[in-house]
Amino acid sequence: MQKRVMQAVCACLALLMATTFCLPLFTSAASEATNKYNELQQQLNAINSEISNTKNEKDKTKKQQQQLSSQVSIIKQQITLLMQDIEDKQAEIVLKQEELDTKKLEIRTSEDVFAERLRANYIQRNQGTLSTLLGVTSFSELLTAADALQRVTVAENDLLQELADQKAVIEAAQTVLDEEMTALEAQEVELDAKKQELAVKLETSNANLSQLDATLEAQQSEYDEIYKQYVEAKAAMEKEWQNSLGGDYVGGEFSWPVPNFFYISSPYGYRPNPFNSAVQEFHTGIDIAGGGANIKGAPIRAANAGTVVRASYSSYGYGNCVMVDHGGGYKTLYAHCQSLAVSVGDYVAKDQVIGYVGTSGNSTGYHCHFEIRINGSHTNPVPYLKG
Ligand SMILES: [Zn+2]
Repeated sequence: MQKRVMQAVCACLALLMATTFCLPLFTSAASEATNKYNELQQQLNAINSEISNTKNEKDKTKKQQQQLSSQVSIIKQQITLLMQDIEDKQAEIVLKQEELDTKKLEIRTSEDVFAERLRANYIQRNQGTLSTLLGVTSFSELLTAADALQRVTVAENDLLQELADQKAVIEAAQTVLDEEMTALEAQEVELDAKKQELAVKLETSNANLSQLDATLEAQQSEYDEIYKQYVEAKAAMEKEWQNSLGGDYVGGEFSWPVPNFFYISSPYGYRPNPFNSAVQEFHTGIDIAGGGANIKGAPIRAANAGTVVRASYSSYGYGNCVMVDHGGGYKTLYAHCQSLAVSVGDYVAKDQVIGYVGTSGNSTGYHCHFEIRINGSHTNPVPYLKG
């Protein structure tokens, strides 16, 4: 009992020491290629958001332009209608003028006729008056003759007055028409000014749009340029991964390789050989098993990012196995797989599925044999695993 407690304390101390002394090894900085790749990706994101801002602004300007264009076409329509009104008004004015001219002619003719008649009357009157006067036998006859002359003059005067009144009516109508025409012309001036104003706005909008197009083009070519660098950086980074043997450690902690299965059927260290219990052997990793649950075919995930340096059937008892190089001398091994999901040279991300739990090779049941090797030497993986 005491021995067990001591073992537990030792294990705890070992774990503590491993944790304390091993963790600094995992905080190595990311590689230059990775930094460059990340930096370029950030730049691409920034330019992308600039491009989408410019595109939004362009859409807004285009909408404004459409509004201005429709306003211009409304004004143009109004001007066309107004021009028609002006034309109609001009025709009315011409008709009114003709009417006035006719009336004036009528007046002049009437005046001429009247003057002629007056002259004739005068002559006749003078003669008539004379003859009348000579002919009248009484004073009352003389009065009647003079009265008749007077009545003729009054009738002519009335006619002339009537014509003058008609002329005045026409002239008044003409004044109204002139006023209406002036109002229409003022309206035309106003519409022209509005049209001019809209034309200036439209011009400004066009200039803005051209400016935005130029900006967009510049941003697009900047994007293309950085994208080219990004593709190169990505290739460089991947190449670095491919050649990462002996490179810097990828950084971060290792994650548990078979999620949801935490039962360790056989720990790291000395144990009896599963096929011959009389022989002690050193178990170079841990066996992660179902512990009652069905682990067959469960996905095995890369404990950390790295390059696959082995993905094949091992005749040394590992069966189908995968080995991943994480840089800095760290490698992980996953054995007895049912099938593999990666090939040698693949760059795998942390937690990427690399194979499925099986019982291939020297195995007595479905489990994943997991090892961590540091500079080629196996070590107890447990202290390195998160959780
Ligand atoms: Zn094992």
